Amino acid sequence: MDVIRLLSDSIANQIAAGEVVQRPASVVKELLENSIDAGAQNIQLIVKDAGKALIQVIDDGMGMSPTDARMSFERHATSKIRESADLFNIKTMGFRGEALASIAAVAQVELKTRREEDELATIINIEGSEIKSQEFGQSPKGTNLLIKNLFFNVPARRNFLKSNPVEMKHILEEFQRMALAHPEVSFKLFHNDIEVFNLATNKLNKRITDVLDKSYRDQLAQCQADTPYLKISGYVGKPPSAKKNRGDQYFFVNKRFIKSSYLNHAVTSAFEATISEGTHPFYALFLEIDPSHIDINIHPTKTEIKFDDEKAIYAILRSAVKQAIGVYNLTPSIDFEANINLGNLALNPWNQAPRNDFRSDSNVGSFENFGRDSRPNERPNQENWQKLFDGFGENRNLEPQPVLFSSKINQIEDSVNLGKEAEVNAIQIHNRFIISQIKSGILLIDQQSAYERIFYERYLREISQQKGLSQQILFPKTVTLSTIDYTLSFEIIDMIRNIGFNVEEFGQNTYIINGVPSQFLDEDEAELFKSLIDQYKVNENNQKIDKKEALAKTLAKRNASKMQKILTKEEIGGLINQLFETAMPSVSPDGNTVMSILTLEKLAALLLN
Ligand code: ADP
Ligand code: MG
Repeated sequence: MDVIRLLSDSIANQIAAGEVVQRPASVVKELLENSIDAGAQNIQLIVKDAGKALIQVIDDGMGMSPTDARMSFERHATSKIRESADLFNIKTMGFRGEALASIAAVAQVELKTRREEDELATIINIEGSEIKSQEFGQSPKGTNLLIKNLFFNVPARRNFLKSNPVEMKHILEEFQRMALAHPEVSFKLFHNDIEVFNLATNKLNKRITDVLDKSYRDQLAQCQADTPYLKISGYVGKPPSAKKNRGDQYFFVNKRFIKSSYLNHAVTSAFEATISEGTHPFYALFLEIDPSHIDINIHPTKTEIKFDDEKAIYAILRSAVKQAIGVYNLTPSIDFEANINLGNLALNPWNQAPRNDFRSDSNVGSFENFGRDSRPNERPNQENWQKLFDGFGENRNLEPQPVLFSSKINQIEDSVNLGKEAEVNAIQIHNRFIISQIKSGILLIDQQSAYERIFYERYLREISQQKGLSQQILFPKTVTLSTIDYTLSFEIIDMIRNIGFNVEEFGQNTYIINGVPSQFLDEDEAELFKSLIDQYKVNENNQKIDKKEALAKTLAKRNASKMQKILTKEEIGGLINQLFETAMPSVSPDGNTVMSILTLEKLAALLLN
């Protein structure tokens, strides 16, 4: 008995749809691309319920004849290529002829379309690949496509959709990419009847600020290169505008948005020393290259492409960006004030101390208790760690003269604190490390990581128990977010409130901050609030990261960075005490080693040879 059967068109289309249509944003992308390909000058995108209920795109492009309108829903039906040679000369966004067929397989679709020369428009209703009706009617020139109830017939896929803020974020991303790539086209976006974007045709730099961030206005450096193989145009952000999240980075190849970590590397390496570590420059760069040099057809959503000479592109791109930011490329300034007194200590052995070795080399058994593998709820034995410090006080030579380490401002602080007895015999060096004499040698603590651990556990507790105390601020601050960030903020606003933020929605992408967590050291409440959303955005695609943990981590890092300063003896003592009260004192929330023991043997060995 033969068992192989040909699948029906509607099943075949549903399967194909799995590749092209992953979520509402995929539909948005395909429809906007079609409108651009049709030569539209004005494009409106209307969505309801983050596209789950409705995605509508209205354009004033060339429209379709009645027959083409019907054909457009067939699989592998396209007006954009004819023969295989055309695949190497693609000038349109689409060419696979799959999008409409795929979308119509998993949604309820209404198409109204009219060419300039036709009197009547064609109106087609199609549901799950099944044509319900085709008639003539009235409609302006162009195409108007309504996609209702995406995945209505594939409940499993519908259930997999994320929350509205997250799906809306993806839609906004597609919309923004398209709007950036086509500043010569005017775009509007409505979500649940609210106008989110109204973008008039404009120059690219104006479009960039309209779409992304007004604050880029004075921060855009023009980038240009003209070679026979490749033309580059666009803008990069001047180094001071680099941000902590890598959101605003765009490559367009022949006006198609693409992702490429290789090309990203070319750009970021051009920025080299001009931006601080962990920050990411803005860029919107347009590469123009003869289509015969690229292959777009390696990915169904066409966001990855191959170049025939990647290395050449890398080199041209890098040098173009270097040129663009050349003016701002100042020699990195060196903080002489802070280092000048260190003398030969600059070659201090701590720098060479291996970071991860205290468990293997340490001969202090009790330390095992809070090694890397201890469970979060296993409290280290307080008495055991106290033993580490036994014998301190016998030898106080370790304590340096405070002036040796201090800049002028800090000297004042020090003089205030002089004479106060510390609880633990420990000192701080370089505003960075705490060192303390212990039985077996020296305990070296990374101040920043230690605070991160302490704060992290505190915030995590507060988020879960909703008991963060709030402290009213005298003059409430307003903070206006980008459209994407505002949309996403609804996902975490309750947690943010739990920690003690008192914030209210104020419409127009704006929140009012009335209170902040008490004990919080940040001066700039608005910036802090923004950075929480930013960080959430960075983590959002990572399924493995728990929202609460990510938020606690961000806050902890932020607060810990404010502690990069001369600590009082009380603060040093407090730091050590609190650190050893945490569940995992030896590792920071990011997995960095918080402390290490330099045994006497190791210290002695440093002086050999
Ligand atoms: P592709 O874009 O790869 O050709 P699609 O399924 O997206 O495939 O569209 C099929 C065809 O329908 C297109 O080739 C085009 O001829 C026509 N079409 C789709 N959308 C529009 C539109 N907005 N305006 C005019 N024609 C359109
Ligand atoms: Mg298309």
